[in-house]
Amino acid sequence: MLAEVMFDLPLGQAFTYAVPAHLAVAPGQRVLAPLGGAVRAGLIVALVEGGGERVKPLADTLEPRSILSGGQLALARWIAAESCSSFGSTCAALLPPALPTEPMAAAPERPAGPAELPELLLGADRLARVRREVDRHPGGVLVLTADVGAAAEWAAFLAAAGPAVRLDSGVSDRERWRAWNSLAGGERRVAVGTRSALLAPIPHPAMLVLIDEHDAAHKPPGAPRLHSRDVVLRRATLEGGRLLLPSATPSVEMWWRADSGRARLHPPDPAPWPTGSVADPRGLLRREPLTPGLARATQDALAQGRRACLLVSRLTSTLACDDCGAVPRCPECGIALAFSRVDKALSCRQCARRHPAPDTCSACGGRRLSPFGWGADRVEHALHRRFPRARIARYDPDATRGARLETQRRLAAGADIVVGTRGALRLFPPASLGLAGFVTPDQLFRVADFRASERAFALMWAAVERVRPDGQVVIQSQHPDHYAIRAVLSQDRGEFYKHELRFRAELGYPPFRRLCRVSVRARQEPSARALADACGRRLREAGLTVYPATPDRRGLVWRLVVKGQADLPARVAQAVAAPPTPPRARGIIEVEMDPVD
Ligand SMILES: [Zn+2]
Ligand SMILES: [Zn+2]
Repeated sequence: MLAEVMFDLPLGQAFTYAVPAHLAVAPGQRVLAPLGGAVRAGLIVALVEGGGERVKPLADTLEPRSILSGGQLALARWIAAESCSSFGSTCAALLPPALPTEPMAAAPERPAGPAELPELLLGADRLARVRREVDRHPGGVLVLTADVGAAAEWAAFLAAAGPAVRLDSGVSDRERWRAWNSLAGGERRVAVGTRSALLAPIPHPAMLVLIDEHDAAHKPPGAPRLHSRDVVLRRATLEGGRLLLPSATPSVEMWWRADSGRARLHPPDPAPWPTGSVADPRGLLRREPLTPGLARATQDALAQGRRACLLVSRLTSTLACDDCGAVPRCPECGIALAFSRVDKALSCRQCARRHPAPDTCSACGGRRLSPFGWGADRVEHALHRRFPRARIARYDPDATRGARLETQRRLAAGADIVVGTRGALRLFPPASLGLAGFVTPDQLFRVADFRASERAFALMWAAVERVRPDGQVVIQSQHPDHYAIRAVLSQDRGEFYKHELRFRAELGYPPFRRLCRVSVRARQEPSARALADACGRRLREAGLTVYPATPDRRGLVWRLVVKGQADLPARVAQAVAAPPTPPRARGIIEVEMDPVD
């Protein structure tokens, strides 16, 4: 008997070993095997008949039985293929650490049930609704969050209905392993985890829940290199059962699915919504971050003893007209052009076309075009000047870490006014704020990414959900008619998605096409360039749209953006697997399918 073993290596291929007569092994089992002069942990992906005269034998088993069933292995294989990445690394990222001394339950093979349409839960009551559904569900439940902090909160939130085991790295290796086993053995039925739990065995009939499906944090760098949304959609199709997607602002991809009848939208009950207004910052914002409208609303909140949260954005590298707010965009790709201070030029991050920086605004003829923005510290100072008696704190969990963040959090918890970035919203429960103010949301629309509007919309909606129905929302924007702002202020999601889907369809972006970023790196600039050329040629021959390669500053890393249809992964994998021509074009090729940044 021969065993095909995959290791946590970038290589996609399996290694073959002889199975010694004294070892009982099965596919999905973790084993130890000699590789490159050392004994390494690997995973058996298949057993085949054959003699083992010319291959090395397995060294030992790592666990007494299979940790993955045939169905789970098939799902992992699909994830690897869809993300053009290593099957071995994908499996390694999706398994709990091995604990050979613990008793172990067999990986259960689940019967496939009828697939149900994924359900989008939008309303403000969506979290309570998830808990009710978990409570009522007769089988197992897997709740997946974008990060460890949210996993801890969900485990605590669900504990009211019964114990929920944790599969994320916020608990010890032993606890993770025991959680996995208690699910495999059917002793526990509710689990909470992050993306590393995507393959976790869940008692039948299973219900999957993906929290905040729209969040890009569901696809951080590293294996498994696929958005968790795509994995749970696939898993629900293979295994049957329900899939709940609670999110106030679903991804454009999911909204489109619902539009085309492939997902069910639970329309939210009409809920009270705070009054919002747009304050025009033209001519003012360069000197002073607060318009009279936002200053007045802040004053009101303080006078009523309510808390205010002012959101700032991190600085972007795009230009905008100070007079009319127009942003130079790529005529082909529709995304904001990135501005380089070094060579005073604009370039498109997607198609790589370069343009000299204009002297005047093409929309209004204005002469003040510059990159600008207000960081949290400058807004904080301006608030101190204006409201000297208020307790004002800055909270920036997106850019601060460790002890400094802890101090910030403590101060922010007792502050009247919190100035912060996206992550600061976590401080506030729903409908708790007297005021949410957006200092420079226009920066969000100017990010050089086709998802800029979707991200801005999601952030603004999340902020407004945290404002009391009798509170205020002030958006300082030069684009009061932008469909994302209109949709948020009028509590009309459909308004946003209608426009956004039209934009995506016209310019060929997801969900209508798939994108992929291919990076090549080499030790020398000529090799990197030659490899990028060769890759581009082969990808074009595969029938894909390939934008010109762009080098990093030293020319050692080149990036190509590739656009195609649903079969993009298969075409890209085939194209980059071909042997390098010319032979000097040697280096490392990395593929990032469906990039989120
Ligand atoms: Zn202008
Ligand atoms: Zn372009």
